[in-house]
Amino acid sequence: MLEQLRKNYQGSNAVDDVSMRIPTGQFVSMIGPSGSGKTTTLMMTAGFVPPDSGRILLDGKDITALTPQSRGLGMVFQNYALFPHLTVAQNVAFPLEIRRTPRAEIRERVAQALEMVRLSPYAERKPQALSGGQQQRVALARAIVFRPPVVLMDEPLGALDKNLRYQMQVEIKELQQRLNTTVVYVTHDQEEAMNMSDLMVIMNGGRIEQVGAPREIYEQPRTVFAGKFLGEANVLLGSIESGAQASVFITGAGRRLALAPGLPRPPGKTAALFLRPEKVVLQPIGGAAGGIAGRLPGIVRRVSFLGHIVRYGVDVGERDILIADVPNTRGRPVHALGDAVEAEWPLEDTHLLEAT
Ligand code: ADP
Ligand code: MG
Repeated sequence: MLEQLRKNYQGSNAVDDVSMRIPTGQFVSMIGPSGSGKTTTLMMTAGFVPPDSGRILLDGKDITALTPQSRGLGMVFQNYALFPHLTVAQNVAFPLEIRRTPRAEIRERVAQALEMVRLSPYAERKPQALSGGQQQRVALARAIVFRPPVVLMDEPLGALDKNLRYQMQVEIKELQQRLNTTVVYVTHDQEEAMNMSDLMVIMNGGRIEQVGAPREIYEQPRTVFAGKFLGEANVLLGSIESGAQASVFITGAGRRLALAPGLPRPPGKTAALFLRPEKVVLQPIGGAAGGIAGRLPGIVRRVSFLGHIVRYGVDVGERDILIADVPNTRGRPVHALGDAVEAEWPLEDTHLLEAT
């Protein structure tokens, strides 16, 4: 549990009033752009950086003043931080050695930890004789060998290439579930965070922007920032005209768009209409399905074949090009550059957010 953590560096708040409950046994990721305060929050939690104010509680106990070692938390760093002169087994044994664990128990626990990360055959090697992925697994084994209640990880896969990273995501997640450990995981990689997390914490400028399950934040972003950070997004700026029956969204270019009845809206007259690209369907002009939907005519200005989807950029006469992601499946109409199309979407897939 973090309570109103604050850290100031040279007159600006790196972390500014961060409070959150970290549910036991869950995989919690902190995600945000570079400089948003993720590492500083994690380092305060680990005990390497003292907060200017606020408290850190572990199972109700205030650990804010404790040294990193006496907090008893596991830690995995991006650069592995392995001891080069020690073997794999000695690296993993290190946290137990400093805890003065009996020899026989150390041997058994190290063997178990290496088994879990599938490194048993490498126990007697030195770290430099291992691949990057294997070194990261040694760091992982070292973090879990003393069975900490919480493991903190800061961009642990940042140095690995994309394919290996995905494989390690799956391994770390499986290990976390098997051990039922609480993990707090820092990353700037949205897909990685979505793949692994029970709960995501979106950070922006030292503050928490939104906390929620990946699907919840993706489908129901509370701010334009949170929505844009988690994937592709269409944001149309405009204003809301409230009618007796239903409200209407007036786009920047003056087009009127239907809104779902009772759609929550931000205070004030201006708003951002938020719409994920995969909710947009493109039809030839006049081919729209009819019925009540959001609809804008436009001209196809970009076609990107991305394999699993075709991403279209449609000029609908607004400030930004409207993005439509169409799955690469049989029977979908294919549009070419310059085609006149109608972009259409279900009303319930739009959200009104505060225009920023
Ligand atoms: P993130 O991990 O999200 O990239 P950080 O927590 O590392 O962000 O940094 C947050 C802000 O605090 C940044 O503006 C960074 O420059 C500043 N900062 C972090 N550590 C220090 C430090 N030791 N001294 C001065 N400024 C720092
Ligand atoms: Mg960082």
